[in-house]
Amino acid sequence: MSIQVLDKTFVPYLSEQEIQDRINQLAIQISADYEGKNPLFIGILNGSFMFASDLFKNITTPSTISFIKLVSYKGTTSTGTVITSIGLEENLQDKDIIIIEDIVDTGKTMSTFIPSLQQLQPASIRICTLLHKPDALQFPLRLDYVGFNNQGKFVVGYGLDYDGYGRNSREIFQIAQTS
Ligand code: 5GP
Repeated sequence: MSIQVLDKTFVPYLSEQEIQDRINQLAIQISADYEGKNPLFIGILNGSFMFASDLFKNITTPSTISFIKLVSYKGTTSTGTVITSIGLEENLQDKDIIIIEDIVDTGKTMSTFIPSLQQLQPASIRICTLLHKPDALQFPLRLDYVGFNNQGKFVVGYGLDYDGYGRNSREIFQIAQTS
């Protein structure tokens, strides 16, 4: 069944079952990879809050979790957009970090953020993203755990928004074809 979010129509893309099954698989893999390492998960707000919750529930090795918000603004540097994080209080030194992201599109957000995280000297940093648009990737980025690859259509639901709306669903929708 299609849904309307503000002025746009979205059609079903991933069902609740498909999402939960894939998250279970990711959690099994991550739990095995991080056995005995006591990793710290960092969820990126707002979009990843549902994914982070469901993933973390299924992690079976002792782990901690924290959430941050990335704020991007136009800086005066030559790089243009500057991304800073707010809300990170943990000591990251020598920690194994797993970033939980909702979707990686061009990769700009993550590739700008990772260097600032590296300055806090964690033992390792890996990225776990629910969705990835491989064709849109413009910035060099290694994605360690990917839920689903998508063809580049704009998606909403399960925490992902269109102008703030559309987050509140158990499934994910993609924008309807306009012709
Ligand atoms: P990137 O920096 O990789 O180009 O973009 C990443 C961010 O853009 C995501 O964290 C998300 O907030 C937003 N984004 C990219 N594609 C989509 C999409 O299809 N739907 C929604 N709701 N947000 C998206």
